[in-house]
Amino acid sequence: MIHGSLAPVESVNWQSLLAGSITDPRILLSRLDLDPALLGPARAASADFSLRVPEPYLSRMQRGNPTDPLLRQVLPVGEELLEHPDFVLDPLGEQQTNARPGIIHKYHGRLLLVVSGGCAVNCRYCFRRHFPYEDNNLSTDEWREALDYIRQDDSIAEVIYSGGDPLAASDRRLAWLTREIADIAHVRRLRVHTRLPVVIPQRVTSELIDALCGTRLPVSMVLHCNHANELDSQLGSAIQTLRQAGVMLLNQAVLLRGVNDNIEAQVALSEALGDNGVLPYYLHVLDHVKGAQHFHVDDDTARRLSGELLARLPGFLVPRLVREVAGATSKTPLPPTLISQ
Ligand SMILES: *Cc1c(COP(=O)(O)O)cnc(C)c1O
Ligand code: SF4
Repeated sequence: MIHGSLAPVESVNWQSLLAGSITDPRILLSRLDLDPALLGPARAASADFSLRVPEPYLSRMQRGNPTDPLLRQVLPVGEELLEHPDFVLDPLGEQQTNARPGIIHKYHGRLLLVVSGGCAVNCRYCFRRHFPYEDNNLSTDEWREALDYIRQDDSIAEVIYSGGDPLAASDRRLAWLTREIADIAHVRRLRVHTRLPVVIPQRVTSELIDALCGTRLPVSMVLHCNHANELDSQLGSAIQTLRQAGVMLLNQAVLLRGVNDNIEAQVALSEALGDNGVLPYYLHVLDHVKGAQHFHVDDDTARRLSGELLARLPGFLVPRLVREVAGATSKTPLPPTLISQ
């Protein structure tokens, strides 16, 4: 390496980008030329759930715009500290279905594995912001037990890597786990739910492709992209790499007030996904998690938006509007309110 030279952007690896994420609200505000008056509330709210935003995500935000839809997803604000009786710590009762460390088995045929407790970004609306991930950092023995659980239940046709963000795990860990799962004959599919490529597209490397796609299992990936501005050319090429490796690309978004709760934003997101060969899968209404009240969109508005989307786009670019209901056997669809002629 030549001393004093700057590494070209492409050569910055994802681990350094992850480690170099911005966690200090003061730095975030100054990098975006935002009003320093936002600092007090940001500090107070980040004491409970810290700020975390990686550089490639920051670079897609507009300077000087306090209402930027990407910024709103990551900036801690004072409203998070308000108490509301309907917004609680564990709205989905997951801490009950999490009977064994590392496993969430709620739905028939599908089992969710908490592959990594870490995330590359802290999303302020996150329904797992109070989840006890420290209890889900598995030892080798616990991984063996989780695999035994899958082996012993032949109704499990699909294993879903989740988190936190599963792609925060190393490629070595992912390769080992995927090989072990592929050895279980009744498992037919592998799915990865991740937001990491959205915030750090550099995460999609040939090592990752080898780790995920090196077995007999068909692989799908559900990206968590909430706004068209997130789909820049770098993410576009990461998606291209995944598609070329045969990964089926889907997206799920969360309906968020002030981010994507209008028809233009939803159409733009679906079109941008379609341009990149990604199918919109789900649009989630917000879980009632404590601290996320300010993102709430009421059901009537959500269902009307969903109806407007049907009137504007081909059916395959319209995500299904759903909610999570504790104890339900699947996600619960909210029927769209159809627009009359
Ligand atoms: C959403 C979810 C799944 C996957 O459900 P699909 O409808 O197949 O996408 C599986 N397990 C849990 C716990 C989930 O929350
Ligand atoms: S990446 Fe997903 S799990 Fe992690 S903070 Fe964001 S919404 Fe939550």
